[in-house]
Amino acid sequence: MKTILETLDGGTQWLEKKGIEDARRNMQLLICHQLDISKIQLYTRFDQLLDETHLTPLREKLKLRGEGTPIQHLLGTVEFFRREFKTDKRALIPRPETEELVEIAIELANKKLSHPPFIGPPAPLTPIETEPPTHKTKLKILDMGCGSGVIGITLAAELGMPVEVTCADISDEALSLAKENTELLGIKNVTFLTSNLFSRVDSKYDLIIANLPYVPETDRPELAPELDHDPDLALYGGHDGLDIIKIFITQVTNHLNKDAQIALEIGIHQSSTVENLLKLAGFSDISTTQDLAGIPRFPIAKF
Ligand code: GLN
Repeated sequence: MKTILETLDGGTQWLEKKGIEDARRNMQLLICHQLDISKIQLYTRFDQLLDETHLTPLREKLKLRGEGTPIQHLLGTVEFFRREFKTDKRALIPRPETEELVEIAIELANKKLSHPPFIGPPAPLTPIETEPPTHKTKLKILDMGCGSGVIGITLAAELGMPVEVTCADISDEALSLAKENTELLGIKNVTFLTSNLFSRVDSKYDLIIANLPYVPETDRPELAPELDHDPDLALYGGHDGLDIIKIFITQVTNHLNKDAQIALEIGIHQSSTVENLLKLAGFSDISTTQDLAGIPRFPIAKF
């Protein structure tokens, strides 16, 4: 038997020795998950004794964490845009910067929704008994390379019924996770498509969002061991990281409605190449928004 505080201190020290960043926070999360309690509850129960029914699974998880298994895989969930999503080895673990891409996408979608043809006719000058204006046409959004579905599902949830979201991915495994997330969150306005980029996409969209693989293969040796747990397919984009994004840019123009926009997530040092590719493909109003760390991360363009 050990108290929660002893377990927390002991586990933290062990993780620190293994070189794990934020060791104490990791240990807190593992204990909270094991006991199914919140962080606040954890602090109020430091003296509570834990027996082997809790200590044994905790030791197992601690060992895996020390060996580089990402904390998100051990917890099985990740918070993204205030919702809890399931995450596991079927898809890339959602990254915090991708929440910024979602914010950009929401802003772009809202601007479109406030302009025809997505809103109903203007209100009549003299009040008559009519239904309030309804959305005649739904805004069509595509999340290309959706992985666990966090982008598309969040957009569908935040924007609601005026939008129709398609989540596409080459990986059936990733799509199965995205479907589970949609069901868990009770989101209705999302459909799924297995497609190698646009190979099986026949529709056109008003907004296409894509967080495609963009990590250069040459970075692999220096990456944190946690990244070995993301599928290679979701992470690496060839020698310079841009193999998939280049093909995406050549294909996407056939799938955009008039005045449609795209918003992407890219890696460090890729923005000028991507902006040039977008210009060559016929896009206008091209700009790249920086992420919170100041890295040009989110190219936006209009077609
Ligand atoms: N931002 C992720 C990372 O560097 C990569 C995500 C991606 O390739 N789309 O770990």
